[in-house]
Amino acid sequence: MASNGRPAPVDWVEGGYLFIVPPDNVANLERNVKRQRAEGCVVDLLMPQELKSKFPSMNVDDLGAGAHTPHDGWCDPNGLLWGFRRKAVELGAVYVKDRVVAAEMDPAKARAVVLASGERVAADAFVNAAGAWSGEVASMFGMKLPVTPMRRFEHYFTAGSPIERLPYVKDVARLAFRSEGKGFSGGVVDGNERRGFNFEVDHDYFERVVWPAVAHRFPAFEAAKCHRTWSGLYEQNELDGNPVIGRWSRVPNLYTVAGFSGHGMMHAPAAGRAIAELVVHGRYQTIDLGRLGYERVEAGEPYREEGIL
Ligand SMILES: Cc1cc2nc3c(=O)[nH]c(=O)nc-3n(C[C@H](O)[C@H](O)[C@H](O)COP(=O)(O)OP(=O)(O)OC[C@H]3O[C@@H](n4cnc5c(N)ncnc54)[C@H](O)[C@@H]3O)c2cc1C
Repeated sequence: MASNGRPAPVDWVEGGYLFIVPPDNVANLERNVKRQRAEGCVVDLLMPQELKSKFPSMNVDDLGAGAHTPHDGWCDPNGLLWGFRRKAVELGAVYVKDRVVAAEMDPAKARAVVLASGERVAADAFVNAAGAWSGEVASMFGMKLPVTPMRRFEHYFTAGSPIERLPYVKDVARLAFRSEGKGFSGGVVDGNERRGFNFEVDHDYFERVVWPAVAHRFPAFEAAKCHRTWSGLYEQNELDGNPVIGRWSRVPNLYTVAGFSGHGMMHAPAAGRAIAELVVHGRYQTIDLGRLGYERVEAGEPYREEGIL
């Protein structure tokens, strides 16, 4: 992606992803690997000894297998965001710095939104892409969207002794970390975290929760040192941890693309295209994302993914 000939500054690192699972999750992992290969992904299914020879520092005693995708990676989210923004502006989008505080409705149609500045914006279509705030925004339109803010810590830490460069390692207990510069970046997601707009940093969390988990998996982290902790908000879809993408049948000109539950950066390009297709063409053109629609929320039918954080 480039705007005015300038590539988006995403700092892409093809470091690979590695999902590791205990023996009782191997069948599930194998199913996922089969599916991913059928879709053209390069995935290596590694048994414990193969994991050990590829990542010698890893403790594999309690593992059943791992799925390694060497061509996956990570990038700078802020650079990606600005890349999208510049491209959108180049294509004619106008950004307004303000906050939606209310919606004006006809019985089955959204007419306008009111901004904190008092300005009123009328439109044919409205897209709720407000992340952790999307539940609040939905309620302005009379819609119940089960997306809540869930605090999540990210830590930058170093190992006490040398360790090989690691891919993005993820396990079923929600440990997730990867090499970053001279150290490592990641954490352990706490799904029981109290919901709310809380950005306070718990400086004991690394030592209490993350350190035991990384040191168990890689004993070289026994003497790990946490240098920095920051907090952000997951936009947690309480129904099933997957995004809600689509139209609301009661107010068909209100679209939702929210609730990515901590996976929204990697899904953003596809989700953006999908919602644009729905708004412009009235239906999906590239991939049918009907299963992620709001209908499942209304029906109370979760659409869960297995083997994801
Ligand atoms: C610690 C941490 C690690 C993560 N790691 C990953 C990862 O490795 N991979 C990955 O894919 N994702 C990751 N995520 C998740 C990812 O950051 C989110 O899923 C993604 O940013 C969601 O994008 P969004 O555009 O839906 O929402 P946001 O980026 O939150 O954007 C919502 C926007 O709506 C605006 N807004 C809110 N209310 C209003 C209002 N009333 N009026 C107008 N505007 C409003 C906000 O100001 C904001 O600009 C991580 C998140 C955290 C916190």
